[in-house]
Amino acid sequence: MNRIYICRKCDEYTMELKCGCGRTSEDVRPPKYSPEDRYKKYRQDEKKKELAKRELY
Ligand SMILES: [Zn+2]
Repeated sequence: MNRIYICRKCDEYTMELKCGCGRTSEDVRPPKYSPEDRYKKYRQDEKKKELAKRELY
């Protein structure tokens, strides 16, 4: 995953460590970690696996 930076001068997000305006961009914290969503996805994956198994046997 690429790091996202923000230029505080332009208030623009960028993938570059240095903004086009010449100012050094700052790290942006990654999106808030959500264990609930992750768990939900995991549950959905498990369900899919179960269905696949039932079709196989
Ligand atoms: Zn800038």
